[in-house]
Amino acid sequence: MTWDDEDLLRKSPNLERILIPSLDIQQRVRQLANEVSRDYADTVPVLVNILKGAFVFLADLTRCLTIPHEVDFMAISSYHGGTQTTGVVKIEKDLKTNITGRDVLVVEDIVDTGLTINYLLDMLQTRAPRSLRICTLLDKPHARRKEIPLAYTGFEIPNEFVIGYGLDYDEKYRNLPFIGVMKS
Ligand code: 5GP
Repeated sequence: MTWDDEDLLRKSPNLERILIPSLDIQQRVRQLANEVSRDYADTVPVLVNILKGAFVFLADLTRCLTIPHEVDFMAISSYHGGTQTTGVVKIEKDLKTNITGRDVLVVEDIVDTGLTINYLLDMLQTRAPRSLRICTLLDKPHARRKEIPLAYTGFEIPNEFVIGYGLDYDEKYRNLPFIGVMKS
């Protein structure tokens, strides 16, 4: 854990603890980027970023990739404030890129129940990409309600509500450089 992480933790009274320190995240993101660069060496993939939670992950991942690639954004929501899933999945912003025949890598912040990404995969599959895979920073396997194949996973985490590194609680805490757990 870095001094900055500890300092930020002290200044955030609603945070219980740091689950993944910022240095561990940076190291793991570089490893994932190496794997992606190797696996997509013969193509130009489209990285589909799911807003808003995955924007920090994408920003770090894209700068560690050593292959040509494109980035596009989608906004899809299943949480509307608080920490409980509503089961409602809604597209708030669609892609600009035509992904037909393209190698698509969906970049997600967290796969929890899997309902959101399952819906998204079904929808993207109808557009006939050449390949469609998922890269998620965090995986909460114990919360899963839909079996989802994850090509790249940063960290498996316990079934707790986490914030930081793009993930929010009521739109706050996205800026924290680490993944932390809220006080309940
Ligand atoms: P799922 O549909 O897999 O249950 O949830 C997907 C979305 O719910 C994620 O993309 C994320 O926006 C939100 N989510 C799930 N678990 C957490 C969590 O622990 N913390 C935060 N901040 N968001 C979460």
